[in-house]
Amino acid sequence: MDSSTIFIVATLMMFLNGGVLGLIHRNLASAVQPSAADWRIGTLLAAGGSLLLAFQNHYPTEIILPIANGCLSTAIVLYARSLRRFFGMPDLHWIWFIVPVCVLGIYVFSALRPNLSARVVLVSVMWSIPLSLALNALISPERGRVLLSGRVLAAMFATSLAFMVWRVIYFSVYAVPENSALSSANVMILLSQALISILPTIGTTAFALMCTERAQRQWQESASYDHLTGIANRFTLTSALNQRFAVARKNNSCFALMIVDIDHFKSVNDKFGHGVGDRALIHVAHTMQRALQAPHLVGRQGGDEFVVLLSTTEPTHAIQLAETVRVAIERNPMRLRDNEVLPVTVSIGVALMDQNDTDTDALLRRADRALYVVKNAGRNRVELDTQ
Ligand code: GH3
Ligand code: MG
Repeated sequence: MDSSTIFIVATLMMFLNGGVLGLIHRNLASAVQPSAADWRIGTLLAAGGSLLLAFQNHYPTEIILPIANGCLSTAIVLYARSLRRFFGMPDLHWIWFIVPVCVLGIYVFSALRPNLSARVVLVSVMWSIPLSLALNALISPERGRVLLSGRVLAAMFATSLAFMVWRVIYFSVYAVPENSALSSANVMILLSQALISILPTIGTTAFALMCTERAQRQWQESASYDHLTGIANRFTLTSALNQRFAVARKNNSCFALMIVDIDHFKSVNDKFGHGVGDRALIHVAHTMQRALQAPHLVGRQGGDEFVVLLSTTEPTHAIQLAETVRVAIERNPMRLRDNEVLPVTVSIGVALMDQNDTDTDALLRRADRALYVVKNAGRNRVELDTQ
């Protein structure tokens, strides 16, 4: 396959990939749409740039080459911006400087002082900047859990970056005589052409996959976590409870659970409004989560009621853990505006699984019974159900 054919095939693939990304655009989460739009425009520009390079020998190179490289440089800057936006990083406006530098440089080294090596070195150095920024967005530890498709993209950007560095060294050391990249049989130039095609084609597929993986993960998370407090929701609690119950039964073991209910929560809503009530729920949820970490599981059952699955087989230890939570909440009042604080207390009913519990409902009912005792006895206490 000659160079022109490689560019034409690559261009077709880029247009197709960009088109597919356009088709799925409306179905993507609105948060990733700006990032996807950048990537799509980048891919279409890369396709345009490739097409111009394919026909560079049919037109004056001093016109075709600066325009083609301008398209490709803009595409790479858009890829970097797209990935930064995808991971919620701010736009860096200064990276756009590489586009005029590439266009002007290519014009100088094709029209005024034709020099293939100078063109390649200049473009490689300039492209290394957005490639590094894109790679940094993909591998930076602050990005949290990186998706599998993100790793594929990171590998592609790392390879491209390494290749740019190699190109700079190679073309600085060996003066490549040909003025036209297309007529050269040079392996480096063929590799460069292949690379120009890889990011907009395979990279676009990986990027589309990354968008759908992100959406899938968000659906999973919204199905498992409480939308207000961010802790486990009733669905997650129920499945974990069923699982722990079955395992304990099988191993002839046990575990404890507690139901935590905020005291006089209605009056918080009535006095300070629903917004402050919501903040109080978040405050209590987070205080509990800090006090009891895995393997205990803290979740919101609904309203102002929380359930905690305790990984203990000892009633005294279960009471101790419940007391830790109660004290943590009591000693950590919520801050309101004007340095005011809102004291919050909770009542806790604890139950330890035993052989008479036929199912999880029986265990929950016993914890609820203990909670009822606490509420009747004046609140802000812990009570263990003793059957
Ligand atoms: P007690 O000490 O007996 O538990 O009294 P209480 O006022 O806390 O009574 P109860 O637990 O029955 O009240 C729950 C209140 O929680 C009623 C409801 O208005 C409020 N609530 C339920 N869900 C939410 C929510 O998502 N946000 C806010 N702000 N309030 C909620
Ligand atoms: Mg309550």
